Amino acid sequence: PSVAEVSNSTHNPKLHSKPFFNDSSSRRQKILQQRKSLPIASVEKRLVEEVRKNDILIIVGETGSGKTTQLPQFLFHAGFCRGGKLIGVTQPRRVAAVTVAKRVAEESGVELGQRVGYSIRFDDRTSTSTRIKYMTDGLLLREALLDPYLSRYSVIIVDEAHERTVHTDVLLGLLKKVQNARSKSADGHSNGNNKNADSDMILDRENDTNGINTLKQCQGRKFPPLKLIIMSASLDARGFSEYFGCAKAVHVQGRQFPVEILYTLYPEPDFLDATLITIFQVHLDEAPGDILVFLTGQEEIESVERLVQERLLQLPEASRKLVTVPIFSSLPSEQQMKVFAPAAAGFRKVILATNIAETSVTIPGIKYVIDPGFVKARSYDPVKGMESLIVVPISKAQALQRSGRAGREGPGRCFRLYPENEFDKLEDSTKPEIKRCNLSNVILQLKALGVDDIIGFDFMEKPSRASIIKSLEQLFLLGALTDDCKLSDPVGHQMARLPLDPIYSKALIVAGQFNCLEEMLITVAMLSVESIFFAPREKLEEARNAMKSFASPDGDHLTLINVYRASDEFLEKRKMEISKEKTEKIRRKWCKDNFINSRSLRHAQDIHSQIRGHVEQMGFRISSCGEDMIMFRRCLAASFFLNAALKQPEGTYSYLTITLVSSTQPIGRALASGQVVQIHPSSVLFRAKPECIVFNELIQTNHKYIRNITRIDYLWLTELAPQYYTMQN
Ligand code: ADP
Ligand code: MG
Repeated sequence: PSVAEVSNSTHNPKLHSKPFFNDSSSRRQKILQQRKSLPIASVEKRLVEEVRKNDILIIVGETGSGKTTQLPQFLFHAGFCRGGKLIGVTQPRRVAAVTVAKRVAEESGVELGQRVGYSIRFDDRTSTSTRIKYMTDGLLLREALLDPYLSRYSVIIVDEAHERTVHTDVLLGLLKKVQNARSKSADGHSNGNNKNADSDMILDRENDTNGINTLKQCQGRKFPPLKLIIMSASLDARGFSEYFGCAKAVHVQGRQFPVEILYTLYPEPDFLDATLITIFQVHLDEAPGDILVFLTGQEEIESVERLVQERLLQLPEASRKLVTVPIFSSLPSEQQMKVFAPAAAGFRKVILATNIAETSVTIPGIKYVIDPGFVKARSYDPVKGMESLIVVPISKAQALQRSGRAGREGPGRCFRLYPENEFDKLEDSTKPEIKRCNLSNVILQLKALGVDDIIGFDFMEKPSRASIIKSLEQLFLLGALTDDCKLSDPVGHQMARLPLDPIYSKALIVAGQFNCLEEMLITVAMLSVESIFFAPREKLEEARNAMKSFASPDGDHLTLINVYRASDEFLEKRKMEISKEKTEKIRRKWCKDNFINSRSLRHAQDIHSQIRGHVEQMGFRISSCGEDMIMFRRCLAASFFLNAALKQPEGTYSYLTITLVSSTQPIGRALASGQVVQIHPSSVLFRAKPECIVFNELIQTNHKYIRNITRIDYLWLTELAPQYYTMQN
């Protein structure tokens, strides 16, 4: 390793010959100061020592104490990257991986993508010189497909483990195995921590048909042992410690000022309205300090953003010193860092965030928290095999984390937009995601890694048998698994290789047979982002009219393709004439005029080019069905047949999803009562109400709504998905 690699920038700042901030040594000074004052700074030596001594270490520390940004730097300077090895830090959320990597690059005085980088799905900012790599937990799982021993890493830090995302849980199980296998391969190096781990996968994997895994090639090679660090903001480390065979846990003391909690007197019928009122109350009546508002998603954030701006205009000039900054997962990365920038002098900043700001990122300057008490969560019905997004009350643990955000730099206030007795009714903590989501995605990945016995896999908390079986069955129906539950060749392997939901991967794989891969690539990209259209309450009519110009009588999928292509064509025509900045400006204006969410569309375009790259690499030919929309609709039926619904008798306006339930065998199913659902008002088929449809999304509010719908002929189902539908049922 070079000198710079093992040096400590905190103590030897002169070693950096090329300061990154030429003209801002004062900013650098300030950052150094900030770093030194973090609670974790005083225990650097001890932490490094603990990591040296323990192959598995659990670190618990209050949010904002410096775990995520500082620990990897400590380890880097302590020499854990010797020999070119990497320190990998996983985050459940994309935004956290990106913003933290940027911050740490700045703190280390290096350019992003050099020593410090990040890698998330569809966006990789790393290079061969990267040593500290922030990434999503899902991405590390994917990396394991190519490098089953995770041999490039000397340390893996699973951060935000308390979030218990499904990827974190699967990763923990996998890392346990990898660590064990590596300590065995390291010849004689024994690992006291995980006596109970076995290594049945990995070591005896065969074949490498699709370049997914190189397990066989790894055999016999020697790897240095892997250090595993689990970091969590919750004080309860016991679960993690037990899971890892009584692993050592340490606690990093945080700093917390008192936060006054205020409740509403009565339940609020409209929490968005209550949020808006509270924002202005704080802005007009309270002492300076920024506001952090917790909302459930992009759509809500953008509508509150607009409403705040409109109401501001009704205030006298002097009271308008309020700026809004959104932060949510699909926000373009160049806009994400804006939340960290202080507002201009005299201005108050309102951060409109999803629960990303709960523990994943710590934004300085917050004195007020507004918490409506909701979060958008995944929910899964293993009988019907349906996953949906649903807005649910947060847990007590989450409420506490949220209010804690107001007291990091001084005393603060938290406005909970529900009555106090409602708080007592909240669950203590959130149920791990693995217990409430469709597992087909992770099963596919585990299978690709050679873990065949899913039910026997060492999960920290086992998902229900019913949901494992249902997900296996879905994979089987999609053609990803063989009769004896092995990954099928080539479909199963191809599906595992694509970084998409299995149902979307399947759609891309079958699209070739229908000559519509081009159309399906656009569809999958557009379905991968939230809310392409926006319809502000006050301009509903205009927005609807704008949408009509793209609307296809066949449904939403084609409508989305029309939007995508219209935007491309519009820009194509103007490309020759103008500069890049101007193009972007024109693009945004086009989006605005057409009530298209320009952030979402841009995101979809990025995703499109990424997955296009993937399928090209896999040797798929990109064909188009041209005007033959029946081909495309048949392809949708062949891909999304698991989500089909039939219109119910006149007058009810509802649909019944077609759910077939098998006992245990994939043959001999019976038609079970599906779910009664309604077409979401945003669908172009809301009024047309065709007989038979396929859909992509189920959302639950007061009603069960389906979204992204295309009209199909029900006979296509028996023709194109005979493995699921027979004439009788
Ligand atoms: P933890 O992981 O323990 O919750 P972090 O390491 O994320 O803590 O944060 C440590 C400190 O770094 C916090 O005070 C936070 O405000 C600051 N910080 C993190 N990212 C940024 C950023 N992009 N800009 C400014 N400050 C940041
Ligand atoms: Mg953190």
